[in-house]
Formats: sequence, C-alpha cells, structure tokens
Amino acid sequence: MLKSIPAEPMATSSDAAATHPISESVCPHCDGAGYYKEAVQFGHPHFGVLFPCECKLLEKEQRRIDELERISNLELVRDKTFETFVADVPGVRRAYLRAVEYAKRPQGWLVLFGNYGVGKTHLAAAIANHALKRQIQVLFAIVPDLLDHLRSTFGPSSEIEYDERFEMIRTVPLLVLDDLGTENTTPWAREKLFQIMNYRYNDALPTVITSNRKPEDIDPRIFSRMSDRALCEEHIIIDAADYRRLTIQQRYPFNSNVRRRMQG
Ligand SMILES: [Zn+2]
Repeated sequence: MLKSIPAEPMATSSDAAATHPISESVCPHCDGAGYYKEAVQFGHPHFGVLFPCECKLLEKEQRRIDELERISNLELVRDKTFETFVADVPGVRRAYLRAVEYAKRPQGWLVLFGNYGVGKTHLAAAIANHALKRQIQVLFAIVPDLLDHLRSTFGPSSEIEYDERFEMIRTVPLLVLDDLGTENTTPWAREKLFQIMNYRYNDALPTVITSNRKPEDIDPRIFSRMSDRALCEEHIIIDAADYRRLTIQQRYPFNSNVRRRMQG
C-alpha cells in the first residue's frame, strides 16, 4: 500500500503546528516543565509516567519546520510555480499535467527526466511550493547541495545534529530532489544517498526526482527502486526545446493577443 499525503483540502498533521504559533507565556498544562503526569491511581499503567506535553511537541515540530525551510532554500525558486509555468510548449504538457496531479495528491515517486533546460526544476519547485502553501512539510534540494549539507554536520563533534538531520531528510513527508546523478560522489555520499532513497522506497514515502542523466549514470541500486512500477508508475521524459530560451512573451503570456500574433 502506497503512503500518500491526503488530497486537498483535507487537513494535515502539520497544520496544528503551523497555524498556532507557540506562545511565549508559560504553558498552563505543564507549568512550563514540558512534561506532565496523568491523575490516575496507583496500579494504573499510567501512574507515575511522565508524558511529553503538547507544548514541547509543538516546539519540536516548529524547529523541524524551520530547519526544513532553511535547508530547502525555496526562496531561490519561489517564483517557480504552476502559474508561471508555460505548459503549451510542445513536449512539456504531459509532464506539467502529471506534476499538477501529483502536487494535489503526492503519492509514490514522480520521476522527471529531460535535458538541461526543459523545465524539470521549474516543475519540481512548483510541486514543492504548492506543498508549502498547503503546509505540508517538504524538503526541496539539489542533490549535490543536500549531500554537502549533510556532510557538513557529520563528525564527532556534531553527531546528534547529523543524526537529526539525516533522520529528517529520510522521513520528511515530501522530498523533492533536483538533479539526481550530477552529484560528485564520494563513497560516503553515495552510501548516504542510497540509504535515504532506500528508506523512502521501503516506506513508500512521496518523493520527486529530476535528472538530466542517462539511467546508467544513476546508482543502479537507486535506479532499480525508481523503476519499481508499484511505487513509480512511469518515468516522464520531457522532450522540449530549451525551456529557458523562450521569449519573455512566450514565457509569461500575460496577453494572449500578443502570443497569438507571435505564433501566427
Ligand atoms: Zn506544556
């Protein structure tokens, strides 16, 4: 059974943390301790048990969201949305429709192949921006940068930080990986990337992958998982003229008359 993020407009578990800012005042439920005991009698299985208070859980959730945003660097691709994508360029329409459908209900893996400049990153970023708007926890990352980032926290002095970060990348509800196959892999990075992908494969966690590489350039262990049709129905190959070479009018068709004249 594939895991999926609920389709719109159902609420997600992250809604609570995102819409209720953590209050600065002392939590009335635990008096700021972060833990509470249930008022039960001796002999009850909860007697004397400390439960983490909701205020601590919200705080932890908020830290996770802040960290995801920091790593994602989505500000750099904030303008890459479905609204700014020109879908009537020959060759990209199918990929566009599939990406829109996926963004509405992220399920399984979505794989976009295509040469440099066909709009893969734009579609991947649009999916991530859409998720963010719906307050779904999402990590958008260019694969080599992600591995560098992970490596920077790896070391004896920051083991906890590294473990937390690795766990976060592995388990984030939606992971968007741009440019798979371009990473300059050291054995360490190769292994980490495989571990991330293998975990997400085994748990069928929603994942978007773009690549401009040939299948044989991708780690065969990862490629075989990308090719499992139970998780990933198809590989979408975008075959378009260089998307970035479109004229301003083609790219941002604010005025359809202008566009029609140009095409005529
Ligand atoms: Zn509390």
